[in-house]
Amino acid sequence: METCLCPVEGGHAVEIMTRFDIAIAGAGPAGLAFALNAANAGARVAVVGHPNGTARIEGASARVAMLLGGYGIGEDVLGPPLPRNADWPGLSAGGNVEHLVMRPALDAALMAAARRAGVTIVEDHVRRLDPGTGTLELEGGMIRAALLAEARGRRAPVGPRRRRGPATIAVAGFVDRPDGQAGSRVTAREAGWTWHARLHDRAGWMQVSVDAEDLRLRGPETVWADLTGGLPMPPKPLIRAAELRLVRAELEPGCVVLGDAAVAMDPLSGHGMFWALSSALSALPMARAMLDGETELAQRFYRERVIETFLRQARIGRDFHALAAPAFGEAPFWRARASWPDAAPAKGMPDERWLRRVIVRGGRLEEATVLATEEAPGGVAFVAGIEIGHIARQFAGHRLPDIPEFAARIAPDASRARVLAAHDWLTRQGFAGSPFPTTTSDAIQEVTT
Ligand SMILES: Cc1cc2nc3c(=O)[nH]c(=O)nc-3n(C[C@H](O)[C@H](O)[C@H](O)COP(=O)(O)OP(=O)(O)OC[C@H]3O[C@@H](n4cnc5c(N)ncnc54)[C@H](O)[C@@H]3O)c2cc1C
Repeated sequence: METCLCPVEGGHAVEIMTRFDIAIAGAGPAGLAFALNAANAGARVAVVGHPNGTARIEGASARVAMLLGGYGIGEDVLGPPLPRNADWPGLSAGGNVEHLVMRPALDAALMAAARRAGVTIVEDHVRRLDPGTGTLELEGGMIRAALLAEARGRRAPVGPRRRRGPATIAVAGFVDRPDGQAGSRVTAREAGWTWHARLHDRAGWMQVSVDAEDLRLRGPETVWADLTGGLPMPPKPLIRAAELRLVRAELEPGCVVLGDAAVAMDPLSGHGMFWALSSALSALPMARAMLDGETELAQRFYRERVIETFLRQARIGRDFHALAAPAFGEAPFWRARASWPDAAPAKGMPDERWLRRVIVRGGRLEEATVLATEEAPGGVAFVAGIEIGHIARQFAGHRLPDIPEFAARIAPDASRARVLAAHDWLTRQGFAGSPFPTTTSDAIQEVTT
């Protein structure tokens, strides 16, 4: 039997004779959501980290609210959806909503849910992960587990092949601005952009994003006053790095990587919490594969997913900056961000449409044929629950048949609604007019080599 640490009164750790299946470094949304998923699947899980105590507001989309709802977290924590507005040159305003979330309350709710699910929370600081021996080295001792998870956000160590966007710093804090309405507003300014969020009954939150070098040269007070139109700076502003980063492009055997520790999102995307929660969902099949000795499959799945996510977010961010850039002439903040990372389109029909990718089927990883589309360049594996590779094999060399033949050959037991949805989707992909490829393997070979 192995030794590990478990929490006792006061959060101190003591050695006891237990071994965990999974030990997670970092108690943010990614680490805690993964802990919940793994514990609900029957694993013995430990999370090491402190409850997040730094008051701050972040915006959560309807997709994030839906995922959090799955852990029993609702509007008592997230608040109601409020209008999200934009003063952004080139962007037509309006129609969007987001929940304005107090992050300590959200992280505490996730931690409470994890505890209820049987997760062991160890309130300590992680010094080092050693996937080779399955050890988390803490300030107060060590934890052993069959599998480790890195979820320390932007403070996680970077791996080889890391990449990052133009260095950006966010300066933020609570501000008194009694004239505002509940909701949020993103505003482009010459030296950067601001996000102002106001809850019904609390003070407003102002976040200023600027170039790191500009902040260094002019200092936080000047930059803050410039971008907020002269608002007094909060006494203890929260100052954080905010550029998009590919932190870890590869998985080491014995350790999955989640959330910002894998790809740290630019807050402009509003995608950070969604990525944290969705990467916690996909970490479970990766963990299963690693524990079952299929490490290479997990590594491929991870690599494809993080590189795709990073490049897609980088290009979407570039286009968003490029919309506003002409309004600010040669301003360096916009010039640098409107051209990074490259000139490739963020969206567009991929040249290679049939890919061989690692997908999740029934909670497990396996290799399958997927169809790359404009919306999903990484490939779609299932349409209305029907496997795309199966459809392609059935109709190789032929056009999409009419609905009765399609239903009879592809999914005789499926509901009419599913068959119609799949048929409609394939028609929109052009298969009513042009045939499915005779063989997908040549195209696949080209893509994967
Ligand atoms: C300025 C800014 C504004 C943002 N605004 C939004 C927004 O409005 N909407 C949105 O969706 N996203 C936003 N994001 C992104 C969002 O905050 C992150 O994407 C999300 O929190 C990632 O979750 P995570 O669990 O991966 O990391 P984190 O939330 O960073 O959690 C990591 C945890 O690990 C802990 N930790 C670190 N080191 C150690 C250690 N050695 N030992 C133990 N614990 C450790 C940390 O204390 C933390 O609790 C913003 C980001 C920034 C920088």
